[in-house]
Amino acid sequence: MNRPLTSDLSRRRFLAGGALGGLAWLASQRKASSQAPAVWVDRRKYGPFQCMASFSLTPLEAVFEELAQLQIELTRTLATPPGDQTVDLYLLADQRGHRAFLGELYPGLPYRRALYVQRAGRGAVYAYRHPELAIDLRHECTHALLHASLPAVPLWLDEGLAEYFEMPPGERAFGHPHQRALRWHLRLGILRTVESLERLRDLAQMGSLEYRFSWAWVHFMLHGPAAAHRALVEHLAEIRRGQTRAVLSQRLRSAVPDLDRRLVQHFSNWARG
Ligand SMILES: [Zn+2]
Repeated sequence: MNRPLTSDLSRRRFLAGGALGGLAWLASQRKASSQAPAVWVDRRKYGPFQCMASFSLTPLEAVFEELAQLQIELTRTLATPPGDQTVDLYLLADQRGHRAFLGELYPGLPYRRALYVQRAGRGAVYAYRHPELAIDLRHECTHALLHASLPAVPLWLDEGLAEYFEMPPGERAFGHPHQRALRWHLRLGILRTVESLERLRDLAQMGSLEYRFSWAWVHFMLHGPAAAHRALVEHLAEIRRGQTRAVLSQRLRSAVPDLDRRLVQHFSNWARG
């Protein structure tokens, strides 16, 4: 697909993981979203998602039916049980309305094409109708479901998983535009280690290379050596129990010898059979 990767950052949520406090505070100071300027003409529930749209969702039914399966897929691949939260989806008909809506709810925050925030203990996703809405929804809803299931998610891992699951199910393993660009990086000897990604504390520190390698390590853990997948699942289980004994990089390095070389190898061999 031809999604211009340069537009990625414009749709990223504003705050993530540990940095959520400020926005959560801000959200709690604001009135309920029902008082915002948008007029909801369609409301529907799909799985854990309560959708409110300023346009008819009928043409997008297939997108939402597939989106409702996202939790099942997260549970299947990560062994993370569903949270018991409903996630609110606010969908505007166009960018202008979306911008005005976000400006009303979160004045002063930089504009994002799509946004996930935690409001009063409940996840909310904001997006608008455009050709890549389905990608935005899968990306932001992955964040929302992960945060409903886990007390915290490391920033890079949160983004890597959202990048992975933003593709339609049939394109996650082979179809992400990151793959082609990543091959070039690896050929040129450019690599970001898990340790370097773990040092990132703020989305502002994440450029396209950091997003791409976050995606790459997630891909490696989901499609590479079984020991890497086990390390991820065990790490997430520890986070869920609130007793993380080691950072994921430590776990991965003890599970998979010569880890960085194995990543390179994984992608040089990775092709549809
Ligand atoms: Zn994201």
